[in-house]
Amino acid sequence: DIPVICIDGPSACGKGTLAAAVAQRLGYHVLDSGALYRLLGLAAQRAGVPTDDAALADAAVAERLAALAAQLPARFADGRIWLGDEDVTDEVRSEAAGAAASRVSALPAVRTALLQAQRRWRRLPGLVADGRDMGTVVFPDAPLKVYLTAGVAERARRRHEQLRARGEHASIDDLLAELEARDARDRTRSVAALKPAEDALLLDNTHQTIEQSVQTVLDWWQQ
Ligand code: C5P
Repeated sequence: DIPVICIDGPSACGKGTLAAAVAQRLGYHVLDSGALYRLLGLAAQRAGVPTDDAALADAAVAERLAALAAQLPARFADGRIWLGDEDVTDEVRSEAAGAAASRVSALPAVRTALLQAQRRWRRLPGLVADGRDMGTVVFPDAPLKVYLTAGVAERARRRHEQLRARGEHASIDDLLAELEARDARDRTRSVAALKPAEDALLLDNTHQTIEQSVQTVLDWWQQ
């Protein structure tokens, strides 16, 4: 069996950073599943398919989104993210792309369409998969599932730093309110609600350095 380490958890808790560091240490591949949903949001925008809440309730729109998801020309190479021939690395990380991702990801047909694509990332020598439902839905047989959390104030602070580094400015209070709203929606939505897998190990990194979290996961992996 090809090994998979799942790292699930809420927005801005540091999953991407942790997944990349663990994968680097083990020489494994990384699946950034959130980027797939973000890319789908962009693909929809490019194709003129609306993704506002009213549009998503329309069965024809849902069908078009599922079709886009099934054919999504996502490419990850040299730290860049591509939609077909277009380098969308910066755009895909914007708050707008995150919000669109969160909306399209609530469609069951979209999640089904992306399921096989995600499972194809499971390649030798191994995979670190980062997302919301890696341990519960996509790789339920994974030998190590980590459920990562951090206090919401700390997550807002980190998101603020991240955006600042990209030249985007947002107040910490606004970010905090947005994270709380996104958490509530992610936890209570009817498909792929955010929750730890039954066999997940919980890791709260609020007061940890990245290196400490990486070490914790590597220790669990070696056990
Ligand atoms: O992790 P990231 O912020 O890039 O994810 C963007 C959005 O995509 C999340 O807010 C979530 O709604 C959705 N998502 C998901 N399932 C995943 C990964 C992300 O529904 N496995």
